[in-house]
Amino acid sequence: MTLLGAAEIRELAQELGIKPAKSLGQNFVIDANVCRKIVRTAGVTSSDVALEIGPGLGSLTLALLEEAKSVIAVEIDERLATRLPETVQKHNESAATFSVIHQDALHLKKLPDAPTVLVANLPYNVSVPVLLHLLEIFPTLKSGVVMVQAEVADRLAAKPGTKEYGIPSVKAAWWADLQSAGSVSRSIFWPVPGVDSKLVSFARHQPLGDEALRLKVFTLIDAAFAQRRKMLRSALSSIYGSSGAAEKVLIEAGIDPTLRGESLLVNDFCTIARIGF
Ligand code: SAM
Repeated sequence: MTLLGAAEIRELAQELGIKPAKSLGQNFVIDANVCRKIVRTAGVTSSDVALEIGPGLGSLTLALLEEAKSVIAVEIDERLATRLPETVQKHNESAATFSVIHQDALHLKKLPDAPTVLVANLPYNVSVPVLLHLLEIFPTLKSGVVMVQAEVADRLAAKPGTKEYGIPSVKAAWWADLQSAGSVSRSIFWPVPGVDSKLVSFARHQPLGDEALRLKVFTLIDAAFAQRRKMLRSALSSIYGSSGAAEKVLIEAGIDPTLRGESLLVNDFCTIARIGF
């Protein structure tokens, strides 16, 4: 299958009257080798139903169609979503099936098939909420690779005790193990973005608890990181009524109340949440 190159991407954009919009994170990949590398890194196979968020002009979509059983793409920009089937028809020589949904991924609730793998060059301004939303609503999504702003990638894959570790790291860890999967040069995009990009891979792990526990854990995480410098007994005082009450729960959970949120694994937040509030 021939993938999209720089010239074809510019031609397509011109034909559609698309001036890449910063507000929608529209930086299109113009390097077919990078698209194939992302799909390889994600380990997509012929039994996978691949979900792509923000297919744009189709650079990554065509690389996914080479490997997956089917590809479902979700695009917010109507002009791009409308044009994509024609681009796919022109290039797709595989047996893979394709569907596109014109929708904001943040409001996505259902898909025509259960997705097994997520592969996306995510729109940068909404990359974390989109990833968390997809992990929450599609439990069949077992793994994936997303391209995000380098700084966001570092936060998603961060481990406790580092300055990058924060709300995105712990919330994503509720569902999956995340890892850095390499850097991507700015020069592979049109237009060239003002920030660096990185790949993050994830593999879903066994559920840590039910939805009721997750909501409690996420409330604790939000409070623990609202003021990073605060000790846990003080950061969680609004939840437990006082820092003394918070301290009692933390001691019962076997967690030092003078620690800060940045020291805790998601499992520690689960232990605290199980004691209740
Ligand atoms: N996948 C293409 C590529 O690699 O060349 C385009 C990636 S571009 C970084 C992000 C894409 O996400 C754009 O096509 C943009 O229109 C789309 N987008 C932005 N916000 C979105 C949202 N909330 N839901 C779905 N698509 C969105």
